[in-house]
Amino acid sequence: MLRLLLAASAIYGWLGDLSDALVLLGFVLFSAGITLFQEQRTEKVLNALRELSSPRAMVIRDGKRQRVSGTEVVCGDLLVVSEGDRIAADAVLRESSALRVDESVLTGESFPVDKSDEHPWIYGGTLVVRGQAVAQVVATGAHTEVGRIGASLADIARPVSPLVTQTRRLVQLFSVLGGLLSLTVLLLYGWARGNWLEASLAGITLAMSLLPEEFALILAVFMAMGAWRLSRHRVLTRRAHALEALGAITVLCTDKTGTLTHNRMQVVAMARWTGAGFEDWRAQEGDSGPPETLAPLARQAMLASEQAPQDPMEMALVTLALRMGSSQDRLDLQAWRCVHTYGWSAHCMAVTRLWQAHPASPEGALWVAAKGAPEAIGTLCRLNDTDREALRAHTAWLAQEGWRVLAVAQGTLQDTPWPSTPEGLTMSLVGLVALADPLREGVRSSVQECLQARIRVVMLTGDHPLTARAIAKQAGLDVSADVVTGDALAAMDESTWQQTVRSASVYARIMPQQKLRIVQALRAQGEVVAMTGDGVNDAPSLQAAHIGIAMGQRGTDVAREAACLVLLDDDFTAIVEAARLGRQMHDNLRKALAFVLAVHVPIAGLALLPVVLGGPLILLPLHIACLELLIDPVCSMAYEAEPPEADLMQRPPRDPQAPLFPWPMVVWSLAQGGVVWAGVATMAVWALQSGLSAPASRALIFCTLLASNVALIVANRAYSQSLWHSLRQPNPILWRLWALMALGVVSVLAWAPLRDVFGFELPAPEYRHAALAWALGCVATVWALLGVMRHWRPGQGPGQK
Ligand code: ADP
Ligand code: MG
Repeated sequence: MLRLLLAASAIYGWLGDLSDALVLLGFVLFSAGITLFQEQRTEKVLNALRELSSPRAMVIRDGKRQRVSGTEVVCGDLLVVSEGDRIAADAVLRESSALRVDESVLTGESFPVDKSDEHPWIYGGTLVVRGQAVAQVVATGAHTEVGRIGASLADIARPVSPLVTQTRRLVQLFSVLGGLLSLTVLLLYGWARGNWLEASLAGITLAMSLLPEEFALILAVFMAMGAWRLSRHRVLTRRAHALEALGAITVLCTDKTGTLTHNRMQVVAMARWTGAGFEDWRAQEGDSGPPETLAPLARQAMLASEQAPQDPMEMALVTLALRMGSSQDRLDLQAWRCVHTYGWSAHCMAVTRLWQAHPASPEGALWVAAKGAPEAIGTLCRLNDTDREALRAHTAWLAQEGWRVLAVAQGTLQDTPWPSTPEGLTMSLVGLVALADPLREGVRSSVQECLQARIRVVMLTGDHPLTARAIAKQAGLDVSADVVTGDALAAMDESTWQQTVRSASVYARIMPQQKLRIVQALRAQGEVVAMTGDGVNDAPSLQAAHIGIAMGQRGTDVAREAACLVLLDDDFTAIVEAARLGRQMHDNLRKALAFVLAVHVPIAGLALLPVVLGGPLILLPLHIACLELLIDPVCSMAYEAEPPEADLMQRPPRDPQAPLFPWPMVVWSLAQGGVVWAGVATMAVWALQSGLSAPASRALIFCTLLASNVALIVANRAYSQSLWHSLRQPNPILWRLWALMALGVVSVLAWAPLRDVFGFELPAPEYRHAALAWALGCVATVWALLGVMRHWRPGQGPGQK
């Protein structure tokens, strides 16, 4: 566009028309300025968002743990790292337990390395695959090992999105068509009239009017603004293609703990194993807490947790034990030392810890404390069939309340070294602890919204099937089908698996690897899948889903890097908001494209008119440039800000295979443009034949065109309402643009010097009434026709299946 303007300005200079040349040059600068400004703003928005989604680090400052951005870590900081973290800086270990780091970014070595006192150095950019540690930072940024070799971790290859590809194709199509047409006009005009400079102007005008430069603009503005809108719902966009997929989601797979629920745990029931049965306690309104007899159970649960836990469940256990125990207990606790931890794994859903100097254990022996899923603890305790059945039944009885049920076990260990897996230990059952984790506010209504929008919500959890079912029911999920457990899944053959995935909406005791298979099965059935996740093991399924969603609070860096969206508050309702915004964005994108396509028809048509009819050139490059000044912000910013259609979340998701701008829409859009063109052309024919001067005709035609274009803007704003309704629908950006436009038109018409620049003239007095009548008549007809045409829009709503 800039080059065409420059060329036109050069031609004016050649013709000796210096003021026209300068005005066009002024436009070049103005337009370049606006573009620059807009690009900078978009860039700023994107940068701010990128900063937010960059790795963060947990540091201890002034004795307090706090999360800071990875870039804010400084030398001397105490860095806390745990499984799944991208280490923020080079550091030396102060404390560590079973730390294992993947240093492949640095060394190319794919096997993770164990870190301990003998190997105390950990490096920025490497990945913690197991264990945790506290380390002191010794180098940051460019001074780290990674910084020195110049490896950039920030750039992850971003695939080109379908939207970009489709737009690119549209742009190419229009460029070629426009170029050919302009060239034809230039040649025809020059050949017929012998005036090649004027022919070039006509060609340039047409090329300017056909140039599809809006498409790139629309895309850039929609993407940046979309990311910004999501961020207001506390959702970060890491990959732009997520924005377009959002509106097409058909299945939403979500975690339970922390996403549907608050992950604020509280112990609400306990059951002590007596050897033959359970002695129960349930929290009741106004009771003073569990009886004294349950103190050992609480203490044992605490011993199976971390000493300064971050996990809300362990925090609840520790809080309870400290409240029930005596102050002597606290002192004792400090004297003991945890010497080993068997971590949680999907195969043995329990945590076992070994303690030194526990008073209950014989001299020199280690005390064993374990807690975890009752099945896992049952196995670790090697229960006989009757006891195992009692444990199972009691667990089910508690789990059906929607509580998370943990079994607790104890034991002693004489001989060192300790076995490599917890299965090698000898333990006995102590009892059960049940924790309540309330549903988040708004989850029920969000789920309801999804159901109306024909988005299937599927819950995946590692928790007990009955707990899962109870929570699913509270959340309003479809629980008519059976809860599918991980074990059942593992035993299924491929066809049963496919069948199950089609109908199941609650999965329990699921392992992360199975999440991946579920995503793949859903994808194979043509679903558009969104999947949440937080752990290291979730990364593959996040990557496999159309939209991987990582948790900002609990999530590991690995999960965040694999995901395309990050939920800052881990909140399920934010996903639904995002889906809604995705649909709105897709609607508005189509509206913008329909408008852009339509609006070019009358402009190009007018540019062609003199070639066909003879007579003076009507539209000059300056006029096109002015029109673009209106069209560009309207199609990008104003349409981007259009309010949603009323049925946005009441219709099924759009077909992901459907093109962005299908042919019926193209035809429809061209027809709208055709109506406007017919109106303005009628005006032009009358003006040129009535004896009006060329500048006066030009002014009339230009104003008629503007007024008809406003009708086009309005007609494409909304689909489900009348034209009158759409006109009044609030959109501050659009209103401001209209006000500016009106101001511009009035000053151009009223102020003589400006009139000259535009090549306008007011009609002579004897023509004024007729001119006004014709103009109003044409514009009114255009409005009326566009109003009627809406009823024949292809499809009922944009993007229906
Ligand atoms: P969710 O999908 O609800 O987040 P998880 O996969 O985190 O569930 O946990 C699955 C099961 O593993 C829990 O129901 C619990 O029995 C056990 N579990 C989870 N965290 C711990 C822990 N820190 N210590 C012991 N057991 C745990
Ligand atoms: Mg969990």
